[in-house]
Amino acid sequence: MSSSRIGFIGLGNMGAPMAHNLLKAGHSVKVFDLNANAVRELAEAGASVASSVAELARFNLDVLITMLPAAAHVQQVYCGEDGVLAHVAPSVLLIDCSTIDPYTARQVAAAAQAHGNPMLDAPVSGGTAGATAGTLTFMVGGDAALFAQGQPILAAMGKNIIHCGAVGTGQVAKVANNLLLAISMIGLSEAMTLGVALGMDAKVLAQVINSSSGRCWSSEVYHPYPDVMPNVPASRGYSGGFGSNLMLKDLGLATESAKKVGQPLLLGALAQQLYQQFSLQGHGQLDFSAIIQAYQAKQ
Ligand code: NAD
Repeated sequence: MSSSRIGFIGLGNMGAPMAHNLLKAGHSVKVFDLNANAVRELAEAGASVASSVAELARFNLDVLITMLPAAAHVQQVYCGEDGVLAHVAPSVLLIDCSTIDPYTARQVAAAAQAHGNPMLDAPVSGGTAGATAGTLTFMVGGDAALFAQGQPILAAMGKNIIHCGAVGTGQVAKVANNLLLAISMIGLSEAMTLGVALGMDAKVLAQVINSSSGRCWSSEVYHPYPDVMPNVPASRGYSGGFGSNLMLKDLGLATESAKKVGQPLLLGALAQQLYQQFSLQGHGQLDFSAIIQAYQAKQ
């Protein structure tokens, strides 16, 4: 694959390993983050460094990728006074990998289009482990020709690169997937704690569920019950993994998006409230599978 000149903004838990994988694939990568330590770490791995969004955007780039916390950051980085669109050359391909609402994704893409820049929304699934291993799933919104242009770049950071449809549909897919993930994690937690309270051994119950019709991704690879499965957050005090506050954010995106189209979100609203309460109780940094604690008596 040919080498591209890639700008990367947002070197957090996800962005840093993704930028590392672009370097490993032989691309020339220029980075910016507000956090100087994150920038230094990428510079040591061979990235060149910009001192601002504006400087990075003015660089001679083929592609500019962002991996930012939320919609407000994406809006500011692209459309702010000294943001990407004020400085980037027309025709540079823009790819936002942050998880944000589909409406903001479409607004920012329209602003980019007006400036002459094609844009894809490409949120990811797979967590920090997937980002490090280069096995992320990318859910990509944008027209087919643009998808074909972005695909080889995304393939350096992921395993499944799925074209979801027009711009914004990558975010739609992400919102729908994480809504289901939250609901199924809570459902599994409820079933497991009921079974244990009724006298069953947790490991045996997990085995039964995994060979029966109740199984799901959470039961098969990310079990919430402590010590049922090795190498998952539940077996290390719910550290690492995908934070409950991030799941709360994604459920907020789901409920807000549902409101806009008048779609009922019964279980989603309940899931959001459960995570809201969990966060208020000070557990927002714990992995999202720790929601099982909402069903367990305090030790
Ligand atoms: P993070 O908070 O670790 O990283 C975000 C980075 O963006 C930080 O380094 C921050 O300094 C930087 N940043 C913020 N504003 C900036 C600005 N104006 N200019 C430059 N840099 C700026 O977040 P993360 O865990 O890497 O997640 C990034 C996105 O990916 C989020 O939208 C999240 O929902 C999504 N996501 C996260 C996971 C996960 O497991 N962490 C999984 C899938 C998707």
